[in-house]
Amino acid sequence: MLNPSDRREALKELLTDARACTRCAELAATRTTVVFGAGNADADLMFVGEAPGANEDLQGLPFVGAAGKLLETLLGEIGLSRSEVFIANVLKCRPPGNRDPRPGEIENCTPYLVRQVELVQPRVICTLGNFATKLLRDDPAGITRVHGRAEVRAIGTHTVRLFPIYHPAAALYTPRTLESLREDFHALPGILAMAPAVAPPAVEPAPEPEPAPEPAAAAPRPEQLGLF
Ligand code: URA
Repeated sequence: MLNPSDRREALKELLTDARACTRCAELAATRTTVVFGAGNADADLMFVGEAPGANEDLQGLPFVGAAGKLLETLLGEIGLSRSEVFIANVLKCRPPGNRDPRPGEIENCTPYLVRQVELVQPRVICTLGNFATKLLRDDPAGITRVHGRAEVRAIGTHTVRLFPIYHPAAALYTPRTLESLREDFHALPGILAMAPAVAPPAVEPAPEPEPAPEPAAAAPRPEQLGLF
């Protein structure tokens, strides 16, 4: 078990690795910066978005555009600030033209995200929108169906409460999505106040049944009573 300062150091090493990453040739060739993630390395609450956009790519920080402003506003409404949480994305590099992340890119980048979760050790992860939700729930169900329901999930070696919510960018121009996002956001303090999620006990395979003993044909029946 790493202590918080060792975890912070390991996170810095992971950042150095990610900055040099060339697993996705196109993204490595077109990015300005690798947007690793930012915030409190010991946060109870982590957000996972989709991928950096143009502003994030230029500044090297996640959620610095209009969607980030909305995220900050909603955080303020529940008494939290950006510096208290950790914010990351499924992809650490901007897809050119803001296209959707490709399956191979998600696969290449997932080990960074899983390690971030293992090192930050948040109690709650809010997945923002479809890409993060499908990845971390390991299920194709869309955000409209699963938002606002907390569930216990294992991410790498870390067990968390996963809480899918709409992506703030989707709420910028759709008032009903904003209403739903705000409602889910306001449930967060209650989820953060729950006991930390624990991994369910491993299910042991049922033991092979013992072969029935041959009946001892002529032996006298033993007296069972009083043995237990
Ligand atoms: N949208 C995201 O999903 N991530 C960002 O960092 C910015 C916008």
